Amino acid sequence: MKSIVLLGADGQVGFELRRALAPLGPLVCATRRGELAPGLPCERADLADPAALTALLARHRPRLIVNAAAHTAVDRAEDEATLAHRVNAAAVGEIGQWAAQNGAVVLHYSTDYVFGGDANVPYRETDATAPLGVYGTSKLAGEQALAASGADHLILRTAWVYAARGRNFLLSMLRLAAERDELTVVADQQGAPTPAAVIAAASAAILARWLPLADEARRAAGGIHHLTCRGHCSWQAFAAAIVARAHAMGLLPRSTPVRAITSAEYPTRAARPQWSVLDLTRVEQTFGLQLPPWQAGLDLVLADLAGTRAAS
Ligand code: NDP
Repeated sequence: MKSIVLLGADGQVGFELRRALAPLGPLVCATRRGELAPGLPCERADLADPAALTALLARHRPRLIVNAAAHTAVDRAEDEATLAHRVNAAAVGEIGQWAAQNGAVVLHYSTDYVFGGDANVPYRETDATAPLGVYGTSKLAGEQALAASGADHLILRTAWVYAARGRNFLLSMLRLAAERDELTVVADQQGAPTPAAVIAAASAAILARWLPLADEARRAAGGIHHLTCRGHCSWQAFAAAIVARAHAMGLLPRSTPVRAITSAEYPTRAARPQWSVLDLTRVEQTFGLQLPPWQAGLDLVLADLAGTRAAS
């Protein structure tokens, strides 16, 4: 089998995909800096550099391109709109064009932030999008560019991603809970916290079913799918669960209280959707998946963290 090229192999999802995709075939990892970790080289692919990106694809001629790279800094994107659109939209279109011309297929990730957040039932893939900021707008443009490229593709829209490594809400809450007497966290945004490991494992299971399909069936099963953990909560409820479970597992010395505040009391550069819960029916039915509840995902990541800390 020709190789799989994994872009963004050192992000939260990319890191987990390195392990999850290994059984599917030879994996070529690429990062912006050309390193998986200090001193561990891999291919270099800066999505802001189109010539380098297509040169990498031409060199490896992959059968499957998995794009886990993105400009994910939601607030910074407001001040870096050109770069965010270059990385999250134009580069995705170029990946799709290369794939369409060379008979490769593409797995790409997108976000709940393509929605406006004024719903009160989970969003379906066909619901109208209305991104509130540059990040969501650029990710939506990336979805559209990939669809327009004509490449066979899957777009997995996920949400509230976290892991035992990287920069994320869980690690911030654990740090702050150890430092402060009380945490204040917004309680008027609802979503489904989703570990990168759950996304990676589901991605591998989806690919194992999707890739062998005949062309027409593969196209019918492709396009956009929503992929998160089940259920939903506010950031405040997520923080309270993180603190309680981490304390119970010995990762925190005490169970720091988590007080609810409103988004108005915690202004950010970019507005966030108040409701970004995604309906999972299509992905679960198409690929025979049963996604775990967000609470089970949290225990998985905390167990990972406890294991890492014990080993270090
Ligand atoms: P991360 O921010 O952890 O990883 C993104 C990776 O993309 C980083 O390794 C980053 O590298 C890399 N990257 C950024 N710019 C470039 C560039 N110009 N060229 C090459 N690589 C680049 O994000 P996640 O793993 O959490 O996100 C994976 C996918 O899921 C993305 O498509 C994201 O939009 C989507 N998603 C994420 C959510 C979240 O809460 N994080 C929520 C919903 C969807 P570097 O470290 O060098 O910047």
